[in-house]
Amino acid sequence: MNIILLGPPGAGKGTQSDYIAKNLNLYKVSSGYLLRQEVKNNTPLSKKIKPLLDKGLLVSDSIIDSVVEKILFDNTINNRLKFDGYPRNINQAKKLDSLTKNLGIKISCVLSLEVNKETIVKRILGRQICSKCDLIFNEYFNPPNKKNHTCGDKFLQKRSDDNADTASDRFEIYLNKTFPMIDFYKKQNIHHQINGMVKIDEIFKEIGDIIASLEGWLYNLYLYK
Ligand SMILES: [Zn+2]
Repeated sequence: MNIILLGPPGAGKGTQSDYIAKNLNLYKVSSGYLLRQEVKNNTPLSKKIKPLLDKGLLVSDSIIDSVVEKILFDNTINNRLKFDGYPRNINQAKKLDSLTKNLGIKISCVLSLEVNKETIVKRILGRQICSKCDLIFNEYFNPPNKKNHTCGDKFLQKRSDDNADTASDRFEIYLNKTFPMIDFYKKQNIHHQINGMVKIDEIFKEIGDIIASLEGWLYNLYLYK
């Protein structure tokens, strides 16, 4: 069982991703994590990666392809991968497709969380982070109160880049990059659209039903639990 989860920034992808990985015992593959591991392990590739990460610059598709390729060659995990924030564009998706086909690895499904722009912008604008305990709240969707947060409101802060313009920009960039990928996966009949506007546990139920309908999932659960 290898799963790709797509969704715009602010769609609640992180929460679903953690939940799926934990419940299905999948190995989370995010390109950010893989890049940081390269640097941590001081690999030959890290000489190219570290200066880019230090400056906050984008890492090229070819470097991302190389770090993902390593994971695909690891046959202790390459049948239980949960891709997170990857692939990011059609080139990465096509590369992943050819790598997996060459290695005989199957992508079981591509799940895309669909959320409209108003909701995304509201979610990003409402986000509050406590500088004392690091808990994240949302003034519209999950407001802090005396029960769930005891530090007091004075520690709640907004991220400086969480404003309406950047939220809207990030959403448009996501759509432009993602539509070609969704088309690509639709043609392979592995794409599933998920309503990301309902409650978190309802979203997970929908995802769970799709996964349950896929061939071989019980076997994988049995094997890795
Ligand atoms: Zn706090």
